[in-house]
Amino acid sequence: MPQKTVRQHTGSHRIAVIGAGVLGLAVARSLASQGAQVTLFDQRYPGSGTSQISYGWVNANGKDPASYHRLNAAAIDEHKRWQAEHPTPAPWLLETGTLEWAADPATRRQLEQRVAKLKALDYPSEPYDRARLQAALPELRLDPRVQQDGISPLNA
Ligand SMILES: Cc1cc2nc3c(=O)[nH]c(=O)nc-3n(C[C@H](O)[C@H](O)[C@H](O)COP(=O)(O)OP(=O)(O)OC[C@H]3O[C@@H](n4cnc5c(N)ncnc54)[C@H](O)[C@@H]3O)c2cc1C
Repeated sequence: MPQKTVRQHTGSHRIAVIGAGVLGLAVARSLASQGAQVTLFDQRYPGSGTSQISYGWVNANGKDPASYHRLNAAAIDEHKRWQAEHPTPAPWLLETGTLEWAADPATRRQLEQRVAKLKALDYPSEPYDRARLQAALPELRLDPRVQQDGISPLNA
């Protein structure tokens, strides 16, 4: 078993975090919640980097290997816990998902494999047939070659 060392920070620890994107903010929050005196620096302003253009899809879909998937799944749980413990008038966490479909057999096989893999990891993911996909998104014009598919990791 790998050893895990957890060091608690006291007010005497003064720590600088460089970069106020989502990662720097999470690190700063975690350190501050452990009692460290944290100063967050950014060359521009918080959220001015890649984090401001993210699609905001909180997911563990297609994250290989399994250890990376578990890390992402744990982050989803942390997002949910944080939202529940710190309710805001407008919830900032939207639990969305994605629908994907394939128009050729090779891509379809890849999708099916991914759905099977996600299911094995106990991650919400299910196959849609064409009718269900069309019912979910009536405005969608599907390529006639699409017979079946779509995956919907509803939670991610
Ligand atoms: C189009 C797009 C869509 C995405 N969609 C998703 C998604 O749906 N879900 C998802 O999980 N991920 C998504 N990602 C990935 C995600 O956005 C990034 O992994 C994440 O935002 C990276 O965060 P970060 O804090 O590492 O970097 P950044 O947000 O880039 O933050 C770095 C910060 O450091 C600052 N900085 C840099 N150099 C210095 C310096 N020398 N001194 C001081 N400050 C400095 C910058 O100004 C910036 O504010 C997407 C990425 C892109 C490009």
